Amino acid sequence: MARTRTDILVAGGGIAGLTAAAACAHAGHSVTLVSPDTPVTEPAADGSDLRSTAFLQPAVALFDKIGLWSDLGPQATALDGLRIVDSIGWPPEVRTTREFQSTDISDQPFGWNLLNWQTLGRLVQSLERHKHVDLCYGTAFKSMVQRDREVIVTLTNGDSIAARLVVAADGRNSAVRAAAGIDVATTRYGQKALAFVVGHAIPHENVSTEIYNEGGPFTMVPLPDQDGQPASAIVWMNPSAKALELADLPDADFAAHASERSCHWLGPMTLKSPRRIWPIISQRAQALTAPRVALLAEAAHVVPPIGAQGLNTSLNDIAALMGALTAHPGDPGADTVLATYRRARTADIRARVAAIDLFNRVTKSGTPWLQSLRLNGLKLVHDAAPLRRSVMRAGIGG
Ligand SMILES: Cc1cc2nc3c(=O)[nH]c(=O)nc-3n(C[C@H](O)[C@H](O)[C@H](O)COP(=O)(O)OP(=O)(O)OC[C@H]3O[C@@H](n4cnc5c(N)ncnc54)[C@H](O)[C@@H]3O)c2cc1C
Repeated sequence: MARTRTDILVAGGGIAGLTAAAACAHAGHSVTLVSPDTPVTEPAADGSDLRSTAFLQPAVALFDKIGLWSDLGPQATALDGLRIVDSIGWPPEVRTTREFQSTDISDQPFGWNLLNWQTLGRLVQSLERHKHVDLCYGTAFKSMVQRDREVIVTLTNGDSIAARLVVAADGRNSAVRAAAGIDVATTRYGQKALAFVVGHAIPHENVSTEIYNEGGPFTMVPLPDQDGQPASAIVWMNPSAKALELADLPDADFAAHASERSCHWLGPMTLKSPRRIWPIISQRAQALTAPRVALLAEAAHVVPPIGAQGLNTSLNDIAALMGALTAHPGDPGADTVLATYRRARTADIRARVAAIDLFNRVTKSGTPWLQSLRLNGLKLVHDAAPLRRSVMRAGIGG
């Protein structure tokens, strides 16, 4: 540990923690980031994150502002459209499709998609060069004593560090949140998501496709070509037992099931990566701040992976925290900073967690009346232009 005193201690070395460290440094503060693991930045390495994130317009604006987009952007694939396919039964029968075009609301794509291991790699590289950020891997937040003017943090390696603000970006089981005495409300759906990369015969044309049936959406997000073939990142949600069964299938059988579930929309699929499995929950912290502590990202909220909302909501937290730090220069842990941050984020987080929870319940259901509601809801939202545009703007967030 290089420092024993820092302006801001960020707990968590995921995409949110690294971005928060860059944003806090951009706001003029010294930052120490602690994380138990070194980020995995190679796709084939154990524990690599094979999910992708479609960074929506506000996320890109944040990366741009803090000088990270020039490193991330060249690797990313633009998303010009979102296609929703509504299907029922097995083999799936397509009932309707609707396309949402970014040009309907903006002269920019909806977002840019990047594999998480690539994003982590770029963020680490750029933060290693940052003179106001210390990256400390192999040690974690353990406990803290919150005083009027600072927080004394004890790390798992026994070191202590004094910080004026502690930022919790230490994930859904946040140790900082627990130490601050903040409770969470958690919903478990009995679902798991499989995340993997496929090659396919038909080009994706920069359109992301979500296919509803039951168990949860099957989402195909465009990637750059791989081995000369169009490629997409897939997130496939299922009831937990079925997801575990699928995870155990031989590659060729698994790819055949995935192609069937995709309604063969992009032609036959070939598996291009291992499969990773993620439990699906919804969770919201009962408060976003405690004295000299700010919660963000999955420490504050977790949503099912629908509509690219998870990490994008987290990046909106970071933009808001940076805004609060910039509006109130000086003490980064002052009540005014924390109150500004709370005001900016509480309602949006509450609304997004509630909306995605509802959306997940409707899209995973096999109940005929809910499937009818889903079909009619999709047609209504898409076909009424003012409603379509408001929903698209709300989905992008910011
Ligand atoms: C299948 C799937 C697909 C998704 N797709 C999208 C998408 O397309 N778009 C989108 O916006 N979102 C998406 N999400 C959500 C997104 O992936 C997550 O929100 C994001 O990865 C979480 O990042 P994080 O940094 O908050 O948490 P994590 O990545 O969990 O990082 C937490 C970090 O904290 C560290 N840590 C743990 N304990 C401590 C401690 N005591 N002290 C210090 N550090 C600690 C951990 O080691 C880790 O480095 C998806 C989620 C899933 C499950």
